[in-house]
Amino acid sequence: MIDLHLHSRASDGSLTPAQLVQLCAERGVQILALTDHDCLRGLEEARLASQAADMRFIPGVEISVTWEHKTLHVVGLNIDADSPVLKTGLARMQQERIERAREIGRRLESRGYPGAYTGALALAEHGNVTRTHFARWLQANGHAGSMQKAFQRLLAYGKPGYVASNWAGLEESIRWIHAARGLAVLAHPLRYRMTRTWLMRALDQFKQAGGDGIEVVCGGGNRDEQAVASDYAKRFQLSASVGSDFHTPAAGWNQPGISTCLPQNLTPVWECF
Ligand code: AMP
Ligand code: MN
Ligand code: MN
Ligand code: MN
Repeated sequence: MIDLHLHSRASDGSLTPAQLVQLCAERGVQILALTDHDCLRGLEEARLASQAADMRFIPGVEISVTWEHKTLHVVGLNIDADSPVLKTGLARMQQERIERAREIGRRLESRGYPGAYTGALALAEHGNVTRTHFARWLQANGHAGSMQKAFQRLLAYGKPGYVASNWAGLEESIRWIHAARGLAVLAHPLRYRMTRTWLMRALDQFKQAGGDGIEVVCGGGNRDEQAVASDYAKRFQLSASVGSDFHTPAAGWNQPGISTCLPQNLTPVWECF
């Protein structure tokens, strides 16, 4: 079992890095990567916990990217968390997250939800604030029946609390990851709001810019989706990654740990570390 896409409380997961490693151990995961959104804060704790549990730990990050007015996610695997280039880039992302959160807060306030910004920031432990923290705050304060509903009604693309962000550029995200001697993997290729034609364009640019891999087995994905993603991996000569995108034990559909069996003729990204 392997899992190269996992979130902790350092971004929008609900477990501490140590709790996450513990859950992975219980589920038989042998190699894991912590890949929090735009942030390296949880890596040291996860590394120590993995060491204690005799598991192989891969430091990672999931970088938010703005490409052609759309959002993509690029996972960096086996990164050097001390890389100055990566740290400087992510510091800018943190600033962007704070500024976006203020604007989301203003918009929610004008819709009759005062205190959303300070509430979300507190749930983010004054660190790396995401839309998930707003969703949690809305749910916790009785403004939404569930996080899913908070997204659907207020936070998803095109909804009143949606604020377009200026994340890293696609090439830029790959540059940061390579500067940290990591591998750049396009996350969950079938979960973007874009047509196949646009996705092909994105993959072409990703490859041209030096992108290394693509997620072929994703949490919640089915066999058909794996086949499509395998086809992209072959067509663009990208290595194949597997990751659940686990955030919380409360969501039953993507728990940590994925079998290491990959479709034939693909190069597993973990053989490239
Ligand atoms: P952000 O990067 O701050 O825009 O937040 C994006 C995060 O929100 C994603 O990584 C997901 O964890 C979460 N998310 C996005 N859309 C939904 C949704 N419809 N329902 C639940 N969580 C979502
Ligand atoms: Mn997330
Ligand atoms: Mn993602
Ligand atoms: Mn993720």
